[in-house]
Amino acid sequence: MTTFEIPSEQWAAVVEKTGGPVVYKKIPVQKPGPDEVLINVKYSGVCHTDLHAMKGDWPLPTKMPLVGGHEGAGVVVAKGSLVEDIEIGDYAGIKWLNGSCLHCTFCRQADEPLCPHALLSGYTVDGSFQQYAIAKANHVARIPKDVDLEAVAPVLCAGITVYKGLKESGARPGQYVAIVGAGGGLGSMAIQYARAMGLHVIGIDGGDEKGQSVRSLGACAYVDFTKSPDLVKEVKEATPDGLGPHAVLLLAVSEKPFQQATEYVRSRGTVVCIGLPANAYLKAPVFDTVIRMINIKGSYVGNRQDTQEAIDFFQRGLIKVPFKTVGLSQLQEVYELMEAGKIVGRYVVDTSR
Ligand code: NAD
Ligand code: ZN
Repeated sequence: MTTFEIPSEQWAAVVEKTGGPVVYKKIPVQKPGPDEVLINVKYSGVCHTDLHAMKGDWPLPTKMPLVGGHEGAGVVVAKGSLVEDIEIGDYAGIKWLNGSCLHCTFCRQADEPLCPHALLSGYTVDGSFQQYAIAKANHVARIPKDVDLEAVAPVLCAGITVYKGLKESGARPGQYVAIVGAGGGLGSMAIQYARAMGLHVIGIDGGDEKGQSVRSLGACAYVDFTKSPDLVKEVKEATPDGLGPHAVLLLAVSEKPFQQATEYVRSRGTVVCIGLPANAYLKAPVFDTVIRMINIKGSYVGNRQDTQEAIDFFQRGLIKVPFKTVGLSQLQEVYELMEAGKIVGRYVVDTSR
């Protein structure tokens, strides 16, 4: 068995008070409990959820001080006495769902994200913006050895979430899906998963740079919400019969598109809410929802099987999404770009610098 030397201190990005900023500093390395593993995180994707957590955007409190991050790809360096099916030296991933009870009614039906006792990485427990992070062994993503840890990191939240959302949409190969927020982290992944699942993609986001990215990832149409004189009409006209997309994935970080989607989704179509803008509400006309038989639903990350399937798509080379890598010490700058809506694709942080 390989053994790793584990230091007593490590570099981490710590939120010390709600609102931020994030502070790059040394903190102790924790020891895994009996059912946990310690992962030497090499790379972590930066999700907009991490920014929501720092800002205190949601009606669910975070732990404080907080090490954020939930797209951490690395190597298992220690494990508890009860852990049998993962070995020291294996590649593994820290995802949003750090752990769940595995015996409640939701866990028993593979709806682990709905577990009332769920532990959330980078929110209710410390996450992957540190060099050594802990998670329940049953929940860490299993990453095959031939997979590039830097490129796979964003799959661990963004990839799993959009893959699950596409399955929840019920859209079938050959149909059209509108992806709202298509130029961002989840959106870029969503275009690639949708394409791999045989769907046509209409990407919606703002600005020319995001438009270029959305098209290069394989969308058949791009609608710019900052410029379109009639977004609803434009989205419907992007489908060959003009009746609108069969499904909509809402990944945007503002409320307006959540109010708009039922206007352009096809009759009998499904609107899947995934983005979590602060203080936002859904509103849809009852009349239209009824007579056009529109389905509106939420989708929240994915279970362990969704995780392995999402990684499998990546391993097969079907998911190629633009990312930029910077040091963990630069996380605050990444948050500033994200707040300004300037990130195309995903930022990944390298925990060694
Ligand atoms: P991101 O900042 O990378 O991307 C958001 C994109 O939305 C940006 O490209 C932005 O330009 C675009 N946008 C903003 N307003 C828009 C509008 N009116 N129309 C179209 N596009 C618009 O963020 P991300 O990391 O992709 O995360 C997106 C959201 O998903 C966040 O709220 C995050 O918390 C949430 N999220 C949810 C889950 C889940 O399980 N449901 C999982 C992960 C992330
Ligand atoms: Zn996330």
